[in-house]
Amino acid sequence: MSITYVKSFTHNPFSTNSYVCHNDSEAVIVDASCSNEREEAEIAEYIRSNDLTVRHLLLTHAHIDHILGCSALSERFDLFWQAHPDTSIWLKRAPAQALLYGLQIKPVPKPGRWLREQDTLTFGHAIWRILYTPGHAPGSICFVDDASQFVIAGDVLFQQSIGRTDLPGGDRGTLMKSIFQQLLTLPDEMTVYAGHGPPTRIGLERMQNPFLQ
Ligand SMILES: [Zn+2]
Ligand SMILES: [Zn+2]
Repeated sequence: MSITYVKSFTHNPFSTNSYVCHNDSEAVIVDASCSNEREEAEIAEYIRSNDLTVRHLLLTHAHIDHILGCSALSERFDLFWQAHPDTSIWLKRAPAQALLYGLQIKPVPKPGRWLREQDTLTFGHAIWRILYTPGHAPGSICFVDDASQFVIAGDVLFQQSIGRTDLPGGDRGTLMKSIFQQLLTLPDEMTVYAGHGPPTRIGLERMQNPFLQ
């Protein structure tokens, strides 16, 4: 067994995290928060200098701050994006959403593979499973690396906070169900890499997150 390394990048005006995770010499990119050439180059340089081959481009969900770099990264690594089918409505709305925030976005290429709960993803010696965690956004999913003890949680759970539910398709009850029935069933020591802010642990959030008491 070899460990999966996680490198985070915080990009764009929303301070959104994306992650390059790698095991042996193979990598995945989770979310596309890079919004300009400098941010794209930062990710590309990390991949080049660590001699990594990117196997998958993955989306936790399709809110505008997580998909700004979709087009650039898919072109650069010659790969299609993978996301849950329920994200399609947000992917289509991307240019309109971008305009609302005064941002520009190239049309997001259609995902080449739809991911569902029962799917697994492999790269290097890593095997990831998928949790279906709607509530913050339609088609929101989390990626779990059991061997390396972490979960990439998108905007579902943050350090001391939870995802907002006031955007179209959001629902507070659904989000709570996703957190309690999916994320909080993971081991306490598991690291949570969130879409915004620093990493945390499942056990810490179970005990101290004010929204979960
Ligand atoms: Zn979001
Ligand atoms: Zn976000």
